[in-house]
Amino acid sequence: MSDYYVRELAQREETLEEKGQALRKMQNTDEDEAELRKLDEEQKTLRKAYWYQEWKFYNWQGSIPGLIKIAYETLRENPKWYMQKELTRDCAARGGCCGRGCGCCEKRESTPGRNMGVGHCTTGCGCCSNFRECELTEKEMGDITGALRATLNYSDRAYLLTLSRAYLLGDKKVEKKVNHVDSAPKLSKWREIMGRK
Ligand SMILES: [Zn+2]
Ligand SMILES: [Zn+2]
Ligand SMILES: [Zn+2]
Repeated sequence: MSDYYVRELAQREETLEEKGQALRKMQNTDEDEAELRKLDEEQKTLRKAYWYQEWKFYNWQGSIPGLIKIAYETLRENPKWYMQKELTRDCAARGGCCGRGCGCCEKRESTPGRNMGVGHCTTGCGCCSNFRECELTEKEMGDITGALRATLNYSDRAYLLTLSRAYLLGDKKVEKKVNHVDSAPKLSKWREIMGRK
């Protein structure tokens, strides 16, 4: 779940940054000045929130049990790991950019210091709000995130999907690494857990 927060914050900041740049280009009235100051303030708040969520995300990563962690890390070695069919479909179903032709998720680059924010659309995606021609308020964003958390632990489920898929396909890279870890339970045991006999 914290991986969703991290992405949301990174995307929101990016959207604010773009707004700020557009405003700066044509700023001449006092109103624009005030708006710019407000944007700067908002960005500062977001940066703080990002810091906190990133820290939580690191903690969560540290708590992943051994064998799953290896699979997790191996998959993450590919910077576009999240462009897996299941996750892309999930994004499209939520009305994210993967359902349209813009290709934002695939193109999403990590900004320096925000490398954990790469992934599929969140409520903070600027392209999504442009498409809908409206922006969610702070409260509405919170409601959506809350609903997500209530239904399922989104990120955990997504990772499990990716991981199980890697195992079902017999990802050679993962398998090789797993076989090098003595303390890890047998691969067959893992497959049993994932429902593959
Ligand atoms: Zn989007
Ligand atoms: Zn887009
Ligand atoms: Zn997407």
